[in-house]
Amino acid sequence: MIVMKFGGTSVEDSAAIERVAEIVRSRAAEDPVVVVSAMARVTDQLLAAGKAAADGDRDRALELAAALRQRHLSAASELLPGTHFFNLQPALESNFKLLQDLLSGVATLHELSPRSTDCLLSFGELLSSDIVSAAFAVRGLASARVDSRECLLTDASYTKATPLFDETATRLQARLRPLLAQHLVPVMGGFIGATVEGVPTTIGRGGSDYSASIFGAALNAERIEIWTDVPGMMTTDPNLCPEARLIEEISFEEAAELASFGAKVLHPATLLPAIEKSIPVLVLNSRDAAGLGTCIRAHVPGNHHPVRAIAAKRHTTIVNVAGERGEIPRGFLREVLAVFDRHQCQVDIVASSQVRITLAVESDTAGPQLLADLERFAQVTCEPRQAIVSVVGENLRGRQGIAASIFGSVAAAGVNVRMISQGASEINVSFVIREDDVPAAVRRLHHDLFSDGEVASYVSTDEPTVEVNAHGAKI
Ligand code: ADP
Ligand code: ASP
Ligand code: MG
Repeated sequence: MIVMKFGGTSVEDSAAIERVAEIVRSRAAEDPVVVVSAMARVTDQLLAAGKAAADGDRDRALELAAALRQRHLSAASELLPGTHFFNLQPALESNFKLLQDLLSGVATLHELSPRSTDCLLSFGELLSSDIVSAAFAVRGLASARVDSRECLLTDASYTKATPLFDETATRLQARLRPLLAQHLVPVMGGFIGATVEGVPTTIGRGGSDYSASIFGAALNAERIEIWTDVPGMMTTDPNLCPEARLIEEISFEEAAELASFGAKVLHPATLLPAIEKSIPVLVLNSRDAAGLGTCIRAHVPGNHHPVRAIAAKRHTTIVNVAGERGEIPRGFLREVLAVFDRHQCQVDIVASSQVRITLAVESDTAGPQLLADLERFAQVTCEPRQAIVSVVGENLRGRQGIAASIFGSVAAAGVNVRMISQGASEINVSFVIREDDVPAAVRRLHHDLFSDGEVASYVSTDEPTVEVNAHGAKI
C-alpha cells in the first residue's frame, strides 16, 4: 500500500478535489491511503474566528464561521450531484453547529485555551476529509472516511502534541487493514489526532505531512507521496526565487536538514518515521500529476555539485544572554540551555564568547516567561525579525572555499550577517540575517551557486579544490 497526502491548495476547491480524485484513481491498484489537509487557508481562518471569539467579538467569530460553511457547502454541492450532496449535508451541518457552539462558548468565557484551540482547528481536516471521501465515491473510487482522532493518538501537549507511535500503529492497523482488504480507499484528515481519553489534539502547523509519514511507517507503506502546489523539492523556495530548480533526487539527511531550516514544503518531522522504516518519500505537484517530482530516500547517487539547496527560516529571534558581572561564570551555558529546554524552546543556532551567549530561536517560542526566567541570573536582550538562511548539501563536507563563496555572495547582495554556524551538521552552513534581507540574500546566493543550471563540474580528486561557476563565483 501507499500513502498519498494532499495539502491545502490541493483540496482548495471543487476543481482541485476533482484533480485529487483523478490522481488517486491512477494509483488505485496500489491500495492508497489518502491523507488530506484542511482546504487552503481554513486553519488560519479558524484561528482568526477563535481569536475574535476570545476577544468577545461573537458576531465577527460567527461571521467567519458562516463564510467557512458557505465555502465548504459550495465545494460539496459542485462535487456531489443531487442525492449524494443531500446525503453528506447532515454530517457537514452537524460539524458547523458544533463549530458555532464552540465559538459561542469561547466568546462567553473570553478564553481560548490550547485545548479548545485544537478542538477548533480539528474542524478544518474533519470537513475536508468528509468532502473528499464523498467526492471519491461518486467518481467510482469506493472510499471510507476514517476519523483520524480515533487513530492518531498523542500526548496532551495541545497545539503541538507528540504522537504515541505504538498505540497509533495498533489503532491504524486495526482500523485500516479491513478497509484495504475490501479495496476501499481510506480518507483521513492530517494534522489532527486525540489523546487516549479522546480529547482532540493537533501535531503542529503544517503537520499533515507528518501525519502521512506516521501512517506510512505504521502501515509499512511502499512509499509516501506528498502532493503539493510546487513541482517538488526545489533548490530554494520558488515563491522567493523564480530561478529555483527541481531536485529530482535527494537524501533523507539533506531533505530533513532543509525541512528543519525552513523549507516549508515538508513539515520538519516528516522524514523521521520514513527514515526509520526506509520508506521513500515523493514530493509531487497536484497541478501537474505527470511531473517527475522529487524522490527522497536513504541513498542517492553522488553528484559533484557542492550545494543541494538553500532554505530560509523566518520568524527567528536572537537572544543575547550576558553574565551579570561582564563575564560568563562556570556552568552558565548549561543553566541558560536548561531554561530554553524547560520552556520547550528549540535553539537553532548558538554562539558564545567570553562575555555572552547568543542564541537564535523561533520567535514564538521565546515568550515573556522564558525571558523572565533568564533575567533571574543574566542580562538579556532580544533582536526580533531575524531569519536563518541555510545552505545544504552532502558535498559540503570538507569542501574548501565554500564558506568564502557563500559569504562573498551575501556581501555582494549588500546583506549583513549577524551569526554564523558551520560544522554542527557537516552538510549545512547556516547564518542569521535580518528577515527583510532574505529575498535579496537568497536570490543572490541561488544565482551564484546555481547559475543558469550551468554549475562547473568538479574534478574528483582527494584534495578538495575551489571551482568557479559560469559567473565566476567560487563554489
Ligand atoms: P501544502 O499546503 O501542500 O502542505 P505548503 O504551503 O505547506 O503546501 O508547502 C509548499 C510551499 O513550500 C511551496 O508553495 C513553496 O513556497 C514552499 N517552499 C519552501 N521551500 C521550498 C523548496 N525548497 N522547494 C519547494 N517548495 C518550497
Ligand atoms: N491545516 C493544517 C495547517 O494549516 C495542517 C497542514 O496544512 O498540514 O497547518
Ligand atoms: Mg504543508
